[in-house]
Amino acid sequence: MTEALRLGDVVAALDSLYDPRWAQDWDAVGLVVGDPDQPVRRVLLAVDPVQAVVDEAVTWGADLLVTHHPLLLRGVHSVATTHPKGRAVTSLVRAGLALHVAHTNADVADPGVSDSLATALGLTELRPLQPLPADPLDKVVTFVPEAAAEAVVDALAAAGAGRLGAYERCAVTSASTGTFTPLPGADPAVGAIGRREVVAETRVEMVLPRHRRAAVLAALRTAHPYEEPAYDVLELADLPGRRGVGRIGTWPAGGSLRELAARVAAALPATPHGVRVGGDLDRPVRSVAVLGGAGDDMFETVRAAGVDAYVTADLRHHPASEALEHGAPGLVDVSHWAGEWPWLADCARLLVERLGERHPVADTVETRVSRLVTDPWVEAIAGADPTTTTARSPH
Ligand SMILES: [Zn+2]
Repeated sequence: MTEALRLGDVVAALDSLYDPRWAQDWDAVGLVVGDPDQPVRRVLLAVDPVQAVVDEAVTWGADLLVTHHPLLLRGVHSVATTHPKGRAVTSLVRAGLALHVAHTNADVADPGVSDSLATALGLTELRPLQPLPADPLDKVVTFVPEAAAEAVVDALAAAGAGRLGAYERCAVTSASTGTFTPLPGADPAVGAIGRREVVAETRVEMVLPRHRRAAVLAALRTAHPYEEPAYDVLELADLPGRRGVGRIGTWPAGGSLRELAARVAAALPATPHGVRVGGDLDRPVRSVAVLGGAGDDMFETVRAAGVDAYVTADLRHHPASEALEHGAPGLVDVSHWAGEWPWLADCARLLVERLGERHPVADTVETRVSRLVTDPWVEAIAGADPTTTTARSPH
């Protein structure tokens, strides 16, 4: 058998797409079950880690199940099979099947869960509904004897500095002059005790993710030839990034709210929940906000964005009713599962691409998207006509 990827490699690729640091504090993302050393050839992707999905993964012979929703969000004291979550964990462990969760970190990624929903609806010119600041950056500035400058840039880059978009080892260098006098007790790389030195140096500037600061400074001290290297660390201003909650997009053809709802229904997998619409069905729609998952805590943001329609899930009576009374955009309420399902195929595609960039044996991995409808609702019945139904008075 050919060599397979390791679970740790696949998790690293997933984390590079959906950084665990982007998850909400209350969330529980990352590897739930599995050994980073175990081989991975088959990856099943699903919204919910329910038993039916675990069974599907086991039957297919998957090595890794990637789900959007966490299995273990609250404190767990037992994984006995007498509890549904324990039964799922036991099934996973028995089958040697790993479980990885990308939840709110996938929601706010670029591209993330709402991008997939927006793209499935044919929306263009996507931007975050509620933008988040870009990941915080530092800049390190150091002064290196000319001959050692390239080696220091290499070391800082290896520690995580100098990445800008699709570029690596980005640095600005300029000529500078350093001067110092070594005191007794010093062990100077250049010069002698008590003598003033003037050295041709290179000023090196590189940006880095703030969370890499300690590693980059450690690399600087190791690679720099001086006993006491001079450096500055500057915290760069927080700027709005491409990541955020929900997306706003343009429906290029435009149409009525009724036509948008029909488009949503055609684009998403069928569920008993179906597609519910609130507001004036004839209202013209061109700009649309979407939010994969539960979205009724975002009405203020949606109204402030001035869009014509809002597509999300789990809209409750009071917030939706009050939002419409306030002149909210038209509301399109989809099944929670269906609204997040389009992300699975995008996640699978991006994962395979990312693995391909990093590993020569990436083509040994096969992905599949679960088509099991894991909405809790199995039937929706309209009910009786309220104009002809007799209201019963209590006895
Ligand atoms: Zn969700």
